[in-house]
Amino acid sequence: MPDRLERLCEQKGLRMTEQRRVVARVLSVAEDHPDAEELHRRAAEVDPRISLATVYRTVRLFEEAGIIERHDFRDGRSRYEETPTDHHDHLIDVKTGEVLEFVNEEIERLQERVARELGYRLVDHRLELYGVPLGEQKKEE
Ligand SMILES: [Zn+2]
Repeated sequence: MPDRLERLCEQKGLRMTEQRRVVARVLSVAEDHPDAEELHRRAAEVDPRISLATVYRTVRLFEEAGIIERHDFRDGRSRYEETPTDHHDHLIDVKTGEVLEFVNEEIERLQERVARELGYRLVDHRLELYGVPLGEQKKEE
């Protein structure tokens, strides 16, 4: 839904300028986890007047409103994605920076158990796995 984020913004009462709408649309259709520079590149294809500073301000605004999530995948740049309706975790290819999404019921249950054993009810978690492709690692050995 290209206008999903725009509608969420409106529901949250955010004032939507044309440039904010462009950033929202770019985020809505993104199927990866772009950083601000990549978002800027995509937004500038729609409206070349959008500056990188505007993109930074806009993603911060959207993040504070809870409609997008920021991730730090240890490569020094924040990545963004629409706040998912269904939970997922991430595996990051440390060579290419590619991000794979996954859900593992066993891990979900295990995390709940760990929290419970520590006397807590789990309300949220983040899990990031960092890896290199199995084939490539062998080539190096
Ligand atoms: Zn994701």
